[in-house]
Amino acid sequence: MSMSEASCIFCKIVSREITTEFIAETTNTLAFWDIAPLAKVHLLVIPKQHHKDVAELSENAPQILSEVLSTATDLARKYTAGSFKLQFNTGAEAGQTVFHAHAHIISDSAKDGS
Ligand code: 5GP
Ligand code: ZN
Repeated sequence: MSMSEASCIFCKIVSREITTEFIAETTNTLAFWDIAPLAKVHLLVIPKQHHKDVAELSENAPQILSEVLSTATDLARKYTAGSFKLQFNTGAEAGQTVFHAHAHIISDSAKDGS
């Protein structure tokens, strides 16, 4: 395990070192609510493997990126009324703060119409 992985907050979520309620789990992904939601629905989908951002994930494990995307769209179907943003912040200057690839699903149109 590299130093970046040892100190990575999302790797700690994957290893259950930090307790988080999961809303979905697939072979290679986990999903949970963002701790600081920016909208009524704000979910995160992460690969269980550590890759620093979506560019590295796409380069090194495209099948896992595909699984992140299908998990994200399944959850968007479940939690939103159909309109949502799917966002991968990449690089500190773009607002990335956790350097373990993750998809944000962000929507103010919650499924129940609330
Ligand atoms: P970034 O800014 O890197 O694209 O997104 C990182 C996201 O992770 C932020 O929206 C932040 O609120 C969320 N986050 C950071 N630490 C935790 C945590 O321990 N638990 C959860 N559920 N979300 C976290
Ligand atoms: Zn990590």
